[in-house]
Amino acid sequence: MENLIIIGSGPAGHTAAIYAARARLNPLMFEGMFAAGVAAGGQLTTTTDVENYPGYLEISGPALMDKMRAQSLHCGTRIVTETVEKVNLSQRPFKVWAGGQEYQANALIVSTGATAKRMHLPGEENLWQKGISACAVCDGALPFFRNKVLAVVGGGDSAVEEATFLTKFASKVLMIVRRDVLRASKVMQERAKNNLKIEIMFNTIPLEVLGDKSVTGLKIKNALTNVETTLDVGGLFYAIGHLPNTGFLEGQLELDETCYIKTKPGSTKTNVEGVFAAGDVQDKIYRQAVTSAGTGCMAALDAEHFLSALK
Ligand code: FAD
Ligand code: NDP
Repeated sequence: MENLIIIGSGPAGHTAAIYAARARLNPLMFEGMFAAGVAAGGQLTTTTDVENYPGYLEISGPALMDKMRAQSLHCGTRIVTETVEKVNLSQRPFKVWAGGQEYQANALIVSTGATAKRMHLPGEENLWQKGISACAVCDGALPFFRNKVLAVVGGGDSAVEEATFLTKFASKVLMIVRRDVLRASKVMQERAKNNLKIEIMFNTIPLEVLGDKSVTGLKIKNALTNVETTLDVGGLFYAIGHLPNTGFLEGQLELDETCYIKTKPGSTKTNVEGVFAAGDVQDKIYRQAVTSAGTGCMAALDAEHFLSALK
């Protein structure tokens, strides 16, 4: 019987683990085994330089996650390299199944993250993170995007936000929108339309990313005429949505309409007492390592408070 189980091993899970272990909650973490297609350590293991995590002028994503994992272990977290297959949250102790075994716990922190959707266009595999990214805030300031024409695929709020952010560095930003309207909210639509550096290309379907060592172009098709052309762009950003990793919950926690876990404002509490959620799995706005770490800390403190009241 466990006191606290943490599911997921990104910045949220490891920060929760560090705080929980230091509070003598003896946490057990399931770090996942290529869960949702991502290595243990989470989304940062898929990137190169991280330049906006306080305390590090320069560090690679995998190195940062190695350090977090080492710190979790150092503080006393036990880490199991398995993916949680399912849970039963209908009563306490909660049940968790991983690696064919059943575990029980008084409290649970879910920090399983989210996965940015990709298009898997021809050329993408070779150029991923060499000019193609799914996070402008993370990668947009990298030197090889400076003063170039950049393309952002998507027409939602994220796409407008990413395009606007990229105008700080790019000579021009092309928003590639598959329909004849933006999905973004009115205020965001106006922001895009009023920005002289942003050009919105409606009815445009990306077909192929061109380039060998870096992105040099994007082959596109006009959805109305079927005419194919090539845009000379030096970078491509996807903003076509994220998928929160909540499938294994099988509806046992309250989710919003896009499957993110709902938390009570100002806390990490879910609708099930004793179950807390942290990081990108409950945040579709900020989606940063440091905000995930912040909510991971909150989840551990919320769990500590909950567990101490049980005694
Ligand atoms: P994640 O990092 O998504 O980690 C969740 C972990 O849980 C994963 O390892 C996953 O495999 C595991 N998991 C999922 N399901 C299960 C399960 N059922 N059982 C067990 N484990 C499971 N942010 C920044 O602040 N700065 C950056 O420079 C930056 N660069 C980025 C670059 C890229 C390419 C991407 C994709 C994101 C980047 N981000 C960056 C965003 C940042 O990575 C995320 O906001 C952060 O990692 C979210 O942390 P998390 O702990 O919520 O989840
Ligand atoms: P959305 O699902 O809202 O938008 C995704 C966009 O990508 C849509 O324009 C969609 O087109 C397009 N798209 C999806 N798949 C493809 C594809 N295969 N090829 C081309 N285009 C594609 O996701 P967001 O990440 O933008 O937003 C998610 C949520 O977060 C929303 O609720 C949003 O309001 C919120 N958010 C709010 C922010 C804010 O308020 N500042 C900032 C960021 C997000 P189509 O419209 O045709 O389906």
